[in-house]
Amino acid sequence: MDEVKAPKSRPAGRVEVRVDECKGCCYCIEQCPPKVLVLGTTLNRMGYRTAKYVGEGCTGCGICFYACPEPGAITVYKDKTAV
Ligand code: SF4
Ligand code: SF4
Repeated sequence: MDEVKAPKSRPAGRVEVRVDECKGCCYCIEQCPPKVLVLGTTLNRMGYRTAKYVGEGCTGCGICFYACPEPGAITVYKDKTAV
């Protein structure tokens, strides 16, 4: 019987937060399924703590983008070459 192998990795993605567009509402942080967004400790020019990507674990699902009320605050990149 042939062995069924699991994919090497899930589809990967990453996000970038434009800190000066972010109001720190945390909607993206609350909605992210793998919980890879956190609230940073530094303040942006408007005095808000802003969302921050922990650097790994993003699947590129885009939920944070749709959850964010601030146009242009968060951008999702999906790696289409990931297995
Ligand atoms: S794209 Fe999905 S996994 Fe990546 S940070 Fe946004 S909600 Fe989380
Ligand atoms: S949802 Fe948008 S405005 Fe709110 S913390 Fe996340 S990136 Fe910032």
